[in-house]
Amino acid sequence: MYDPLVHSSIEQGVSYPASYWSANTSLQSLGTSLQHDINTDVVVVGAGYTGLSCAYQLAAQFSREVTVIEANNTGWGCSGRNAGFVLRGTGRLGLSQLSKKFGLDTAKLFHQEYGAGIAQVHRMIAEGNIVCEPQPSGYLKVAHTAKLGRDLPVQAEYLQRNFSYPVQYVSADQLKRDYMQNTQAFGAIRFPDCFGVNPMALAQGYASLAKQSGVVAYTGTPVLQWRQQPKGFIEVQTPSATVRCKQLIFATNGYTPKNLFPQLNNACLPVLSSVIVTQPLNAEQLEVSGLNHTQLVMDTRALKYYYRKLPDNRLLFGGRSAVHGKDATKPIYPARLLNALKACFPMLESLRYDYHWSGWVAVSYDDLPRVCEAQPNVFYSAGYCGSGVSFSTLAGLRLAQLAMGHGLPALPLYQSSLRPFPLPGFRRIGQQAFYQWGRFKDHFLS
Ligand SMILES: Cc1cc2nc3c(=O)[nH]c(=O)nc-3n(C[C@H](O)[C@H](O)[C@H](O)COP(=O)(O)OP(=O)(O)OC[C@H]3O[C@@H](n4cnc5c(N)ncnc54)[C@H](O)[C@@H]3O)c2cc1C
Repeated sequence: MYDPLVHSSIEQGVSYPASYWSANTSLQSLGTSLQHDINTDVVVVGAGYTGLSCAYQLAAQFSREVTVIEANNTGWGCSGRNAGFVLRGTGRLGLSQLSKKFGLDTAKLFHQEYGAGIAQVHRMIAEGNIVCEPQPSGYLKVAHTAKLGRDLPVQAEYLQRNFSYPVQYVSADQLKRDYMQNTQAFGAIRFPDCFGVNPMALAQGYASLAKQSGVVAYTGTPVLQWRQQPKGFIEVQTPSATVRCKQLIFATNGYTPKNLFPQLNNACLPVLSSVIVTQPLNAEQLEVSGLNHTQLVMDTRALKYYYRKLPDNRLLFGGRSAVHGKDATKPIYPARLLNALKACFPMLESLRYDYHWSGWVAVSYDDLPRVCEAQPNVFYSAGYCGSGVSFSTLAGLRLAQLAMGHGLPALPLYQSSLRPFPLPGFRRIGQQAFYQWGRFKDHFLS
């Protein structure tokens, strides 16, 4: 599998992974490969949520001539591979951590902005009449130990009091009665405004919106190099053609290859996240597991598991995967996920999985993404740390506003570029150490 820390350029024209989403979504081609030189106002590299949302806003709101260049196809990266959790947040810092780091007033602005992320997804779905199977809302953050379960009422009250966030504390008994018979769940906080979608259908819908607004897109076309020319334009090199533009926007996130933009690659740690989708649960399995609802679920482990029931009663269950791309398809990784699922739900012992796939999420050094102008007329948004469905959609709008010279909300997300990792060559060693520590913490310290 392509590995952004190993390969100097991204592979091109590769088919979608054999995921549940690509098997169950109508896939439209966004364009063809670029064969002739062109001039355009703005080049957006990458056709995931960030790139498509940005291109759409630039064309629809600001009447810019926009060209999207994608190495593979619409939603080929994380945007067509994720679990479809539309969450209120991004990065790895919760509101109390943001408040400790930046103060309560700034944390309130983050909360507002993250709410705008969810609203922006709703808006895009409505504007494009996107059929992406949005499920009734609700996200359960589940304590995986009794000790963590005892902290939940205080945490829920903190969010209600300081952020007027109408979250709900769900006791361990209530959780069993109303939501699930997970033997490793000791209560939850329920967030009312998050919901699940078919992520690939969402990406396809964003692509249609962009195209309808006049965006031109080329797929199967990797950007190999780019350089700023003295006369103020930027030259973007692809295998068969050169594109000249005034502004260049990188929406390549965890898939940014090593040599494309080293400043961006060195500021992200590409981490594999992996998902299995089981066979459909029958009526008895739904009954005994209690999983007869569409709430999104994630636990409090350092090495988190997340799951949801899909519209056809299959379970999607995800978590960490291999460290290196070359190991991503080893059977041990889906087997581990299935074992973890059955450890939570022993009554589903006979369940098998039908699909397994992985994708590269971009972890940033300080656990927060950035939307920025990295150098004059060169922009990027990246570093969502595996939580980017709603925020990347908003980030596309923020990128477009930034490129048009508009001011952005006064948030750390928009006031600096991503910090490079101190010893970028040792990122994978750090990741392995984190996994060891996480396993220890989850077993002995939580
Ligand atoms: C298994 C998994 C589960 C996840 N679940 C969730 C979830 O439930 N909720 C959530 O909020 N987030 C989730 N995420 C993260 C979320 O999917 C991402 O944050 C989001 O999709 C990022 O979108 P993007 O457009 O920035 O990047 P991507 O969708 O990754 O798109 C980047 C694109 O850039 C292209 N590209 C890269 N280099 C070049 C080049 N040189 N030339 C041309 N094109 C190039 C790639 O081909 C790719 O299509 C998950 C991720 C994974 C992998």
